[in-house]
Amino acid sequence: HLPTAELQALDAAHHMHPFTEGDALNAKGARIITAAQGCYLTDSDGIEILDGMAGLWCVNIGYGRQEMADAAARQMRQLPFYNTFFQTSHPPAIHLAAKLAEIAPGDLNHVFFNGSGSDSNDTNLRMARVYWAHQGKPEKQVVISRWNGYHGSTMGAASLGGMKGMHKQGGLPIPGIVHINQPDWWAEGGDMSPEEFGIARARELEEMILEVGEDKVAAFIAEPVQGAGGVIVPPDSYWPEIKRILAKYDILFIADEVICGFGRTGNWFGCQTYDLHPDIMTIAKGLSSGYLPIGGSLVSDKVAQVINAGDEFAHGYTYSAHPVAAAVALENLRILQDEKIIETVQAETGPYLKEKWEALTDHPMVGEAKIVGMMASIALTPDKASRAKFAAKAGTVGLMARERCFANHLVMRHVGDRMIISPPLVITKPEIDLLIERARKALDETYAQVKA
Ligand code: PLP
Repeated sequence: HLPTAELQALDAAHHMHPFTEGDALNAKGARIITAAQGCYLTDSDGIEILDGMAGLWCVNIGYGRQEMADAAARQMRQLPFYNTFFQTSHPPAIHLAAKLAEIAPGDLNHVFFNGSGSDSNDTNLRMARVYWAHQGKPEKQVVISRWNGYHGSTMGAASLGGMKGMHKQGGLPIPGIVHINQPDWWAEGGDMSPEEFGIARARELEEMILEVGEDKVAAFIAEPVQGAGGVIVPPDSYWPEIKRILAKYDILFIADEVICGFGRTGNWFGCQTYDLHPDIMTIAKGLSSGYLPIGGSLVSDKVAQVINAGDEFAHGYTYSAHPVAAAVALENLRILQDEKIIETVQAETGPYLKEKWEALTDHPMVGEAKIVGMMASIALTPDKASRAKFAAKAGTVGLMARERCFANHLVMRHVGDRMIISPPLVITKPEIDLLIERARKALDETYAQVKA
């Protein structure tokens, strides 16, 4: 390929990046990733970088699996494209739907395929509203979501999301979506114990249902663990109280498992980790380990019966159940299952990482350390006792730490002043040691910069 500087110049001239950092990024030049294997990326200068984020929380089986490339090539030769509109179907869609019904918890026995997590959540938003309309309750339209949740970037998904910076752009949220607060005890718990705070934040759901009116609420959507919001692991009291409220009112529960699904929390789904029983589940990312774009809405018997029996659900994408993506997803599920990757996370590598991760709280700048399975965060603070924030603009120290990680050949992301990781699920114990070693070095360097 071209030399790095030339690639960077072309990138700056023509490529508008997602969540673009615009001129600032262009001035610096993007880091160009040219190859990857296992848990490591290689950049255009040949430097190997440990990927603590599994790409964007998605490369669960690790990079470079030949079987995945073979599955894609086979399917491309056999049937590169066909749709499942107009009473047609094809084997990859059928086998993948059946497999997902087998591994999904409860009665999530039906799958509507989408192209990504964002458009899966758009599907879910419409499906939840249509579910009630089909039953003669078209006024049940409002979906309750959570501030700081991330559900995607389309108009619908970004409205469901609670990222205020996104809402400021493009006239969001669209009507009929309201938000309650997140269970982030470290940042917002004040003098309450985590358990008191978990209950208080869960009760906001009940307050919102009563404020909007039960007869107007279609659904509540949430991630089992907020991912892009900063890996906000809820206090133990939170989900049981939410479950009590969901059982009391006649509304649907949509679990967004785009990050939590496919082993991330140490079980196939985050709902199993927290004993949740969704009516609809959003899946993407780990469904194909990111090898090809594919998303889905797993739908319960209860919801599917109503949707299937009513007027046409006028919704679908050209790439719904794309055969090559479906074949690749199926191969990914086979690898996860045959190689017992999730069992290994739960029994071995997950507990190993947990011990090392939680020990990071001995660092002078690290407040709480949170981890579930293979998703984890640390809160950076100038004062652990008071859980204070850095006086500088929020996120500045996190950004510095991210850059120090990158300089030490580790991808770790920051959300404000929280640092997060979500490594490939196949990460080994020696690779976990390396991740922690590099993270510690980056934290030391950041601390030195902050004190200077
Ligand atoms: N939902 C959650 C929980 C996510 O984390 C994301 C992406 O990070 C999405 C939805 C959107 O998925 P996509 O980027 O595939 O559209």
